[in-house]
Amino acid sequence: MSHPGVSALGALPTAEEFEAFVIKLFGQRGGTGKKQKPTAAVGYLKGQAGLYLVVQKGAVSHDTLASAGQLWKEKWAADVVKVGEFEDDDEEEEDDAVMDASWLASSRLKKSERTGFHAEMVVVSAMLSANNWKPKTLGELKTYIAAQQGAMIVANAQACKHCGNFMTETGIGFVGGIGAASLTGWWNPILDRVFAHGGTEWGKSVPGL
Ligand SMILES: [Zn+2]
Repeated sequence: MSHPGVSALGALPTAEEFEAFVIKLFGQRGGTGKKQKPTAAVGYLKGQAGLYLVVQKGAVSHDTLASAGQLWKEKWAADVVKVGEFEDDDEEEEDDAVMDASWLASSRLKKSERTGFHAEMVVVSAMLSANNWKPKTLGELKTYIAAQQGAMIVANAQACKHCGNFMTETGIGFVGGIGAASLTGWWNPILDRVFAHGGTEWGKSVPGL
């Protein structure tokens, strides 16, 4: 099996393997009503031993975090991502290896203003916080990400137009192509601003930037 390379995360998965990993953890988003699974995403920077998990409008369960670490360890990184030691206060660095991105993502917006926070962009926000990056442009973020050997963010549903464009323009890998624009608003994690559906910035590749 060929792998895209070895990094701080071990032997990295191929895009297809990573997508299968995300679906295994969260299920494919689909169905309707109560059966519909929430949008979830997992991301990583290739140069850092950390996995960012997020479930839209919720928290990632301890079991899911543990499963993610376990699966990753079995498949790609025997010694990198430690698992099942979240309760151990002496293992803080290992605790950080698999995290709920919503712990780190930051926003000044109130809960009621958070429609348009897409799982992929919550992962980006967490990466910004974790690294203390404060880019002002997409190009600046692209430079930071390139210095970490790149990044991947894969969701259990196709990326919307704006998330897809954002990831393309910042050098973040994803799978499944780019879908239609969201039916609600779209949150730009660099600007911490929600752009209204159909507003003046909506037609832009990446609203606000
Ligand atoms: Zn989106």
